[in-house]
Amino acid sequence: MSGHLVLEMAREQLSHATKHLDLDEGLHAVLARPKRALTVNFPVVMDDGRVEVYEGYRVQHNTSRGPTKGGIRYHPDVDVEETTALAMWMTWKCAVANLPYGGAKGSVKVDTKKLSQRELEKLTRRFATEINIVVGERSDIPAPDIGTNAQVMAWFMDTISMQAGHTVPGVVTGKPIELGGSEGRVEATGRGVIVAAEEAMKGFGGTLSGQKVVVQGFGNVGSIAALLAEEHGAIITGVSDAKGAIYNPKGLPMQELYHKYSGKDGGIAEYKDCEKITNEELLELPCDILIPAAIAQQIHSGNADKIKAKLVVEGANGPTTTDADNIMSDKGILVVPDILANGGGVIVSYFEWVQDLQNFFWEEAEINQKLTRIMQRAYSDVDKTMKEYKTDMRTAALIIGVRRVSEATVRRGIFP
Ligand code: GLU
Repeated sequence: MSGHLVLEMAREQLSHATKHLDLDEGLHAVLARPKRALTVNFPVVMDDGRVEVYEGYRVQHNTSRGPTKGGIRYHPDVDVEETTALAMWMTWKCAVANLPYGGAKGSVKVDTKKLSQRELEKLTRRFATEINIVVGERSDIPAPDIGTNAQVMAWFMDTISMQAGHTVPGVVTGKPIELGGSEGRVEATGRGVIVAAEEAMKGFGGTLSGQKVVVQGFGNVGSIAALLAEEHGAIITGVSDAKGAIYNPKGLPMQELYHKYSGKDGGIAEYKDCEKITNEELLELPCDILIPAAIAQQIHSGNADKIKAKLVVEGANGPTTTDADNIMSDKGILVVPDILANGGGVIVSYFEWVQDLQNFFWEEAEINQKLTRIMQRAYSDVDKTMKEYKTDMRTAALIIGVRRVSEATVRRGIFP
C-alpha cells in the first residue's frame, strides 16, 4: 500500500478537525507538514559477506509541546510519507493524553523475517548511528513499533551510549527492564485499549463481561488486548495473525493461543477447535466489539458497511479510512480512534523516560494505576468534546490534540 494514501488520510483528518476550530490558515499549513524528515541509506554486511543497502527514515512532526516521541517500525512496505503520517498521529496522540511531547516516527524498509539475529543487530546499530544526529534523550525519543521490540531498543540504546561515552537510558523507551525499561511497558498499549473499551462500554450502560470480541492482529497490541478482554469476561470469537484468521462463536482460548501457537511456525491458524476464515471475513464477523490491531487502512469503503460490531476500538494506527469513518458513523457504530485508544504505549513510555531521567523506578501496580487514570481522563475529555461539538469521536480527539498543539505554538510564538 502506498504511504501517499496514508498521509492523505492523516491530512484529511487534520483539515476536518481544523474546520471546527477556526484555525489560522498559516498554523494549519505548519501542522500539515513535518518539522524535520531525515532519509538515510546505509549498508549492512550480511552473514554471507554480501553488502545490502537499506533505506530508513526518522520524521519529527512537531516540537511545540516538548521533545518528539514515537516508535521505530521495521517493515518492507514503509516509506517516508507513511512515516510522516504516523509521526503526525503521534503528535495528536501525545497531546490527547496530555503528555509533554510532540510526535515522531522512524522506519526501515526491511523484512525482518529474512534476517538473522546478527544481521538484525547490525542493521539496528547502523540505523541508530545514522539517525543519531536527530535523536536524543532531550530531543527525540524512539520506542518499539511493528517489527521492533525490547531487544532492538537495547541495541539502539547501547549504540547511542557507546558514541556518547556513557550510558544514556533515556534515549529510547520500551527497553528490557534490566536496562532501565519500565514495568508494564510491554503490556501498556493492549492494556490501554481495554481501558478505552471499558469506558466505551460504560457509555452503552454495560461492561466488557459477556461481550463478543473480534481482534485483528495478534502482535504486541492485539494479543495483550485479547488476553485482558478475556480476563474481563469477554468472549473472544475471532482472532488473526500474519498467517491466518480463526473463528469460534463459542469463544477461543486466549491463554492457549498466546502460549502455544502465537509466534510459532504456523501461528494461531494451527489451533484446531475453530473455523479457518479469511482476514476479510474476520472483520465482518457478527460481534459486539471489533479491535483492529494490525496495520493501516483495514476498514475501508469496500467493507465498512459490512462491519457488524457496535463498537470499534482501534489498537493499530490508522486502521480506518476516512470513507469508512463516514459509513460507520452513519450506521451508528462508535469508533474509539487510534490517537485515544492506543495511547497506552506512549503513556507508559513517558513513565519509562521519567524514571530513566531520575534513576528512580516505580512498581508495576503504580504504573498500571497511573496509566488507567490518564486513559480514563483522556477518554472523558474526548467524550465531552464529542458531545459539545456534536461530532464523531475521531474528530473530537483531533480537536483536542490540534487545539493543544496550536495553543502551544501560539504561546511560544514563531521564531524569530
Ligand atoms: N509505537 C507506539 C505507538 O505508535 C509507541 C510509541 C512510543 O512509545 O513512543 O504509539
